[in-house]
This record gives sequence, structure tokens and C-alpha cells, in this order.
Amino acid sequence: MNDSAIGTTGSGHERFDRPRPRPYLGAMTIRPLVILPDARLRVVSEPVDRITDEIRRLADDMLETMYDAPGVGLAAIQIGVPKRVITMDVSKSETERQPLVLVNPEILWLSDEKRVYEEGCLSIPEYYEEVERPDRVRFRYTNLAGETVEQEADGLMATCVQHEIDHLNGVLFIDHLSKLKRDRVVKKFAKAAKRETNG
Ligand code: ZN
Repeated sequence: MNDSAIGTTGSGHERFDRPRPRPYLGAMTIRPLVILPDARLRVVSEPVDRITDEIRRLADDMLETMYDAPGVGLAAIQIGVPKRVITMDVSKSETERQPLVLVNPEILWLSDEKRVYEEGCLSIPEYYEEVERPDRVRFRYTNLAGETVEQEADGLMATCVQHEIDHLNGVLFIDHLSKLKRDRVVKKFAKAAKRETNG
């Protein structure tokens, strides 16, 4: 099975899922994104019991939606599905995509050393702010083949994993900012949503 490859971030046991042939290929759909201040972004997502076709289809739609946006990571709740599934691709290359699907991801360890990255979020479009997070992370997840994978990452991938797992717990990257900054962006998006509703 050609479902793993060695990654370039961190050291050790990286595995990147490779898309495998799927009978329902072609059914991928770009789904509408859930945007701040939508209350669904605060929902704690439910664990996935079993990797079914429904989950594989969800992952396909998430990847399609993520690449279309474009973004480097997406949590299922961002398309309105409260399940513990995230997709990522930090390769930033259109020619050599490295899609990763993480089901029920869990953080096992975070480094004391921190790093600052400018983060953005597909649910908070066109807003970017620096966030400090642990620089390295060890995490565990189930892949679409149903295997348990343990992996360590640093840099962008470490930031992305933490950002996406936060989504599964109803946490947004703006929660890591000062209350002043957070209130300002929430207010801005609430106003925009109201304008849209009022036509
Ligand atoms: Zn996000």
C-alpha cells in the first residue's frame, strides 16, 4: 500500500497520507465555509467511531474545499460537520500535494520552546495576527486506512496541527490574542454578518 511517505518537517516518524483510488472519485464537493461569528465554530466536535465511506467522502470534500480556498488546514466543523476530522497540507506546492487527513487527532506532547507565526483562518477571512504556540508537537491520529499514527512536527506543521485541533474543541486562533484584539475582530465580523442579513 502506497499510503505513506517520509516528510520533511521535524524528525522521526512523519507519515503523509496519499490519496488512494476511490470508487466514488469525482463526487468531491466544495462546501460552504462556516464564518465567524457563526456559533457552530464554538461547538466541541464528536469523535469518529469508525472509518466509513461517509468519513472518506467528508475528508475528500474537506480537501477539495481547503485547496479551493486556498488554505493549509481545515477542520470538519468549518464546513458545519461536528466530527473530529481535520485535513492539512503544508507543502504549499500545487504540483506536489501532500494531503493529510487526521481522524480523532490528539496532542501527546508540546515543547516548552515557543514560536511565533502569523496565523489566519478560513473561518475568519482576511484577518492575520501573530500567535505564539509551542514550537514542536507530538500527536496521534487515525488515518483513513484505520491505522493509528504517531507523529512529531515543528514549524508550520506544528502550528497548523495545534490550530486545527483547537477547532475540534471550539477554540479559535483569536482566542490566543489579547481580549482587546479579539473583541475588535469579533465585532467587525458580527457587523459584516448583520450587513449581509439586512441585504
Ligand atoms: Zn482555522
